[in-house]
Amino acid sequence: MNIHEYQAKEVLKSYGVKIQEGIVASSAEEAVAAAKKLNAETGTSWYVLKAQIHAGGRGKGTIKETGSRGVVLAKSLDQVPEIAKNILGGTLVTIQTGEEGKKVKKILVAQDVYYPGESDPKEYYLSILLDRATGSNVIMASVEGGMDIEEVAEHSPEKIIKEWIDPQIGIQGYQARKVAFKLGLEGNAFKEMVKFILSLYKAYENTDASQVEINPVLKTSDNQILAVDAKVNLDDNALYRNKNLAAMRDLDEEDPLEVEAGESGLNYVKLDGNVGCMVNGAGLAMATMDMIKLSGGEPANFLDVGGGANAQTVEAGFRIILKDPKVKAILINVFGGIVRCDRIASGVVEAYKSIGDIRVPIIVRLQGTNAEAGAKIIDESGLKVTSAITLKEAAEKVQQVLQNV
Ligand code: GDP
Ligand code: MN
Repeated sequence: MNIHEYQAKEVLKSYGVKIQEGIVASSAEEAVAAAKKLNAETGTSWYVLKAQIHAGGRGKGTIKETGSRGVVLAKSLDQVPEIAKNILGGTLVTIQTGEEGKKVKKILVAQDVYYPGESDPKEYYLSILLDRATGSNVIMASVEGGMDIEEVAEHSPEKIIKEWIDPQIGIQGYQARKVAFKLGLEGNAFKEMVKFILSLYKAYENTDASQVEINPVLKTSDNQILAVDAKVNLDDNALYRNKNLAAMRDLDEEDPLEVEAGESGLNYVKLDGNVGCMVNGAGLAMATMDMIKLSGGEPANFLDVGGGANAQTVEAGFRIILKDPKVKAILINVFGGIVRCDRIASGVVEAYKSIGDIRVPIIVRLQGTNAEAGAKIIDESGLKVTSAITLKEAAEKVQQVLQNV
């Protein structure tokens, strides 16, 4: 699960991570009040207004309706209302949102931290994530902050510092010092970076995050180290024990079909193709998606209904797949191991009748316990459903169906 920047900053702050102070606002009036409050608390008279959406690249992104950027600097209180109006309610398009963009419902009004001083402010990159290959956590850091890190990784991988941390032992002071040293920091900035890394690790661990990414971390002109941006990905499987974090979920940022599937206990991921599929078991689902490709189609989704599928889960799966207007055919591929094929077949027929108006052809491949009995139920149902027993047969039927659409 993702959370917004303003939420991530709140969470990180509670673990002692130094952040660029800010206040979230939903209207131009609230933005002005937020700026006034920041002025009273921090003395700043410049403010940066940041669109809150679950996607990065906002600084270079554009609001469709007004042409404004997603992150804009206000050099006086007077500029705040106009800038806020140009961002709020607009649709922000960035390299991460796709061309349809995302609606901006909130903005973060933050203190300007790029003020001039004895030296120029400098941006760094810092993240902590799970490294599945080594079964440990890894800190990644770079002096190439503020940039697209994927680009740095591709063109100058030597500029990415990596420090692996054994999750059993946790981070050791020398590891944080090593990273700060490799970033070329000294004096107060070095000390603050060490503290920053240690508290960021604590936050990462205690929130059951799978990734925290701060891009940029800023060294201010007076040598403070603080988070300007914050991205936190939380492990969904641990949300049950982090109720306050779970409450930060913003359903508007998620795919509505995925939300609905989650409520029915289905593992559903929406894709862009034309053949919807419903499968029991993740491995079989992946094999089925390969098969759809081989038949000349493109999978419209990944849907694993789980080992104990019954008529209700089949119906819920059907309804979700059918809401996707791109779907031209549906392939149900079930292996009758724990479930019996005749039960699934009856479930499909029942679900079909209960939904009624199904306009796309359905191919049901049932293999395993009582496969033949299952095929018979499908074939004798009188519905627009075709049965198949072997994978090859199912693939050929998908191909035929696609030729007719
Ligand atoms: P992203 O583009 O979605 O990653 O959003 P960021 O939070 O990283 O902000 C984008 C850019 O806005 C940063 O790289 C900075 O260049 C700029 N920015 C952020 N905060 C400030 C600020 O306080 N003052 C100024 N002048 N620029 C800022
Ligand atoms: Mn950023």
